[in-house]
Amino acid sequence: MICLTLSGSTLMENAETIRSNRAYIDAAELRVDYLNEDEQKKASLFPAMVDIPVILTLRRTIDGGRCGLSERQRRSILLSALEGDFAYVDIEDDIKRSDVEDKAREKGVKIIRSFHDFSGIPDDIYSRIYKAAEKGDIAKAAVTPHSVADLLTLFHVSDELKGIDKIIIGMGEWGVASRILYKRCGSMLTFAASGTAVAPGQVNARDLKLLYRADRISDRTAIYGVIGNPVYHSTSPQIHNPGFHAINYDAVYLPFLVDNIRSFFALAEYLKMRGFSVTIPFKTQVLMFLGRISREVKQIGSCNTVVRVPGMWKGYNTDYYGFLSPIVRDIESGRIKSALVIGAGGASKAIVWALRNRGVKVTILNRTLSRAADIAALNFCEFDTLENAKKYEGTVDLVVQTTSVGLYPDFDLNPIEGFRFTGREIVYDIIYKPRMTKILTEAEKAGCTLHFGEEMLLEQGKLQFEMFTGYHYPKSVSDE
Ligand code: NAP
Repeated sequence: MICLTLSGSTLMENAETIRSNRAYIDAAELRVDYLNEDEQKKASLFPAMVDIPVILTLRRTIDGGRCGLSERQRRSILLSALEGDFAYVDIEDDIKRSDVEDKAREKGVKIIRSFHDFSGIPDDIYSRIYKAAEKGDIAKAAVTPHSVADLLTLFHVSDELKGIDKIIIGMGEWGVASRILYKRCGSMLTFAASGTAVAPGQVNARDLKLLYRADRISDRTAIYGVIGNPVYHSTSPQIHNPGFHAINYDAVYLPFLVDNIRSFFALAEYLKMRGFSVTIPFKTQVLMFLGRISREVKQIGSCNTVVRVPGMWKGYNTDYYGFLSPIVRDIESGRIKSALVIGAGGASKAIVWALRNRGVKVTILNRTLSRAADIAALNFCEFDTLENAKKYEGTVDLVVQTTSVGLYPDFDLNPIEGFRFTGREIVYDIIYKPRMTKILTEAEKAGCTLHFGEEMLLEQGKLQFEMFTGYHYPKSVSDE
């Protein structure tokens, strides 16, 4: 079940939130601790106002909630709320047998026996879940992983405790995968946000249902993802998941925040992942874990796509292809014969190689001259510092911006400020957030032809999709 956490201050507001998310959810959790005082007294009315099972929760401040009442007052609100037809009630695992529990059992309301740990994963997580489930209740462990290794522990725990009714949640930014892959975590439900997340790391209900199709994931679902740090800004899930759905492939693609690449490979093996995309800062680090690499990876020294092949992982680089795709005709027609590449980072390596491989004369400009010199030496091209950019005005057919200068939120920065375009150049900025960077705005004013980072992103993603699935990226999706 996808369960929406309700954090409105009135019952009406919460009922409205359910209505607007109804297509994405199967259950809801009424967080009574978020209700106004008057509304808390009327909580029993809520289940009759909606058409899905509701969990009754009055979370204490020590467990991350807002209820600072005495235990006696808290029990009294819960008892009065239980007059309504709640399907579940959340009772913390340190609460001894109480009148709330008795009333719930008498009314056939299922008990979720929960514990929270905001500092980490407790050593006794196995026994606590086991004990909580002893009386036939549903055990809920909301804990806080701090690394990929911790995330892997959560999957281990859930496998060890197969057959027990439970909810295992990894809170915070390291736990997002446990929320999306809740079924692989053996959880009966995952908590979703409607807008602002009530708990750290919560994913919104619409994305869980439509983008990740989390409620359809089974042991047979192929798992793919993108690894990086940071990673949650990545738009790759929006490329791959709709593609999988369109070709009817039972697969999911999700972001994995990674601290240690070795731990991630252990997780990837555990989840029997079929492949993943690689972003900053792992494009080079990933190489030592690959059994085979493509010719492009060998040449460029950076890998953005990893695919499982029999007995090993194989690395590819689709950045070079994604970059070339929008301008390849102009190169073939002779419209682009020379290029100025701004930047000498990982992306620049692939781009310079792609251009040189097609016979384009390249000059690299970079803040750190030695990095430009290294790429130039490998690709037989010229290099210079950013300060000398003006020297190249009017001398090239293509200007490619590959630095991170101008990236969101620094909209008004341009690494070659003051560079004058003649209007004949093709100007290509590989930054995709924002779409229109400062350098592109200036190039547009001069009448240049523009290319955008999102074109490269989509094209490299489409090729990745082919490597993952063996199918072309569906036209119906790319035309949307
Ligand atoms: P990277 O390896 O970290 O390289 C960063 C580059 O930016 C280096 O050349 C660096 O110069 C330069 N730079 C950073 N801050 C600077 C500053 N304040 N002034 C001047 N130069 C500065 O990163 P990357 O992987 O190449 O990625 C670079 C950008 O490309 C990112 O914005 C990324 O999102 C984008 N990208 C887009 C796509 C796509 O599909 N559209 C694909 C890959 C990357 P130094 O050498 O002097 O440090």
